[in-house]
Amino acid sequence: MQTTLVLLKPDTVQRGLIGAIISRFENKGLKISWMKLVQLPKSIVEEHYDFLADKPFFPGILAYMTGSPVVAMAITGKDSIKTVRMLTGATNPTEALPGSIRWDFALSIDANIIHASDSEETAAKELKRFFSEWEIYSYEKISDKVVA
Ligand code: GDP
Repeated sequence: MQTTLVLLKPDTVQRGLIGAIISRFENKGLKISWMKLVQLPKSIVEEHYDFLADKPFFPGILAYMTGSPVVAMAITGKDSIKTVRMLTGATNPTEALPGSIRWDFALSIDANIIHASDSEETAAKELKRFFSEWEIYSYEKISDKVVA
């Protein structure tokens, strides 16, 4: 089992798509382990996207990600890191495969709906970045046995 970090970005919240996106993960058989709606401080977004700091579009990302709340989720399941990335689709929605979340819901790379960790190492770092120790727990779902 793996756990990965997903952010439903501000456009998802503003467009009322939280439920539609979460359904994709639940329908696939993945488990929402932890979840919260949070307004991100600039410092967290700067840390999260530090590898993009020298890009011309970075100020736009900062403004977008701090402009209204995001949903932070930990998603657990078999190969959940790869599975969630596949469900998410390519960074640029115009290059994402039809049926992926970004193809189905997003039109631009600036507002591409969702973030998902891209490796085990990143997931471990990002889960710590967005969830405090007291928010981390595990619970059993009856479906865990059915889909595993
Ligand atoms: P991801 O893992 O698919 O989200 O892609 P990256 O980690 O490479 O980039 C992080 C985020 O920065 C993306 O989700 C986009 O919102 C944004 N981004 C990346 N590349 C570009 C770009 O060329 N132009 C713009 N405007 N935004 C970008």
